[in-house]
Amino acid sequence: MTVIKSWVPSARGATDFPIQNLPYGVFDDGKGPRTGVAIGDMILDVGAVDHGLDPAMFRAPSWNAIMSAGPTVWSALRRKLTELLSNEACRASVEPHLIPMANTTLLLPFEVAEYTDFYAGKNHAFNVGSIVRGPENALPPNWLSIPIGYNGRASSVVVSGTPVRRPWGQLKGPDDALPRFAPSARFDFELEMGAIIGQASDGMVSVAEADQMIFGYVLLNDWSARDIQAWEYQPLGPFQAKATATTLSPWIISREALNPFRVATPERERPLLPYLNEPTPMLYDIELEVALAPDGKPETVITRTNYREMYYAAAQQLAHHTTSGCPMRVGDLLGSGTISGSTRESRGSLLELSWGGREPLTLQNGEERRFLDDGDSVVMRGAAKGEGYRIGFGECVGTVLPAIELPDWAKEQGQKP
Ligand code: MN
Repeated sequence: MTVIKSWVPSARGATDFPIQNLPYGVFDDGKGPRTGVAIGDMILDVGAVDHGLDPAMFRAPSWNAIMSAGPTVWSALRRKLTELLSNEACRASVEPHLIPMANTTLLLPFEVAEYTDFYAGKNHAFNVGSIVRGPENALPPNWLSIPIGYNGRASSVVVSGTPVRRPWGQLKGPDDALPRFAPSARFDFELEMGAIIGQASDGMVSVAEADQMIFGYVLLNDWSARDIQAWEYQPLGPFQAKATATTLSPWIISREALNPFRVATPERERPLLPYLNEPTPMLYDIELEVALAPDGKPETVITRTNYREMYYAAAQQLAHHTTSGCPMRVGDLLGSGTISGSTRESRGSLLELSWGGREPLTLQNGEERRFLDDGDSVVMRGAAKGEGYRIGFGECVGTVLPAIELPDWAKEQGQKP
C-alpha cells in the first residue's frame, strides 16, 4: 500500500498532521480569526483556496456552518483538501495560503452549543467507586446498562492554553460541623475524549445514525474539584465541582481521518438493551498520555492509556441521549468520561493515581503530588498510529492559577476561608 504524501515538506516526516489527518481549527495570525486546516507545521487558510464549496460557509471563525452542511459536504471537503495538498499541480495556487502555525494563536474551533459529560470508562468508574464506597459496591447497579452522564456548561469550555483558576467552593466540615468556604485543595484533571456533534436531531436516533452525526473528536480535560464534588454530589451528581473549566485541544480530528483505527467496544458483562448495541466498531485505537509540569520545570508523564478502554462509544452515548426526546444541536460536545486503563500507570485522573490522596506520586524533580498545585501545567496528548504516519491530536494544555482573593462584599459579610 502506498501512503499518500503532501508536497508540504513538514507534513512528510514525523508530524501529528500528515495529509491523512487534515484536522479542522480556527487560527489568528494577526489578520483576524478564521478557519484553518493543519498540515505539518503549517495552517492552510481554508477559506482562501478554491475547494468548490460555498465560501460563505468559511466566513465565520468556527466550523459550525460546515458542520451544519452535513456528512456529504464533510467528505467532499476532505477529498478536495487531500488533492490540493498532495497534487504538485495545485502547489502554486495553494502555497501562498499556508501560514506557519508558530506565528498564529489557536482558538476554539467551534461554537459549543451544549456540553454533556459521561462516565463511560469502566476502570475509572470502578476505581472511583472503590475509593469512595469500597470495591464490593464500586460499580452502581445501572452502570453496565446505561451510559451515565450529566449536563455540563458550554460557557466554561475553553481552548488549550487558557489558564484555569483554582475554584472556591463549599467543602465538607469535620463530622457534623458546618461546611467551610475555601479554595479547592483537591483540584484535579480528567483525561477524556470530546465528540463534536455536527448534525442536529429531533427525536430518537439509532447508534448507526448517531455515529454519522459525529463531526470529529478532540482531547478534553474535565477539570474537577474533588473536595467540592464529595460534598455536593448526592443526590443529583456533579455541579460546581465541574463548572470551572473544560479544556479542549484546538484541532478537530475528523471521523473520516480516524476510520482506519476503529475498534469494537469491550465484551459486554451484561447484555445491552438492543437500542444501545453497536452495529459496527465505534471506538478508536488512540494512544493517550498525560504529563504534569510544575511551574516552568520539566514535565513528568504520569499516565499512558488508550481510548479503546471505554465501555461505551460516543455514538452509543449520543443515541442514549436522544431517547428522552432531547434535541441535539450542531456544536454539541460530549465528553467520553475519564479514560483509565487497568494498571496504576494508566489511570486518567489524580484521584485515581494517588488513590484518593493516600498514595502521592513522585515527579521527576522529586516533588510529590496528590492533587494539582498552583502553577502546575497539565498536558494531554494523543495519536492514532498508522503504517508510516500518525493521526495526532496536538496538545491539550492548561495551567492552574491561584484562587482569587475573597471579594470585599464577602469579607464584609464575615465570610472567611
Ligand atoms: Mn468527566
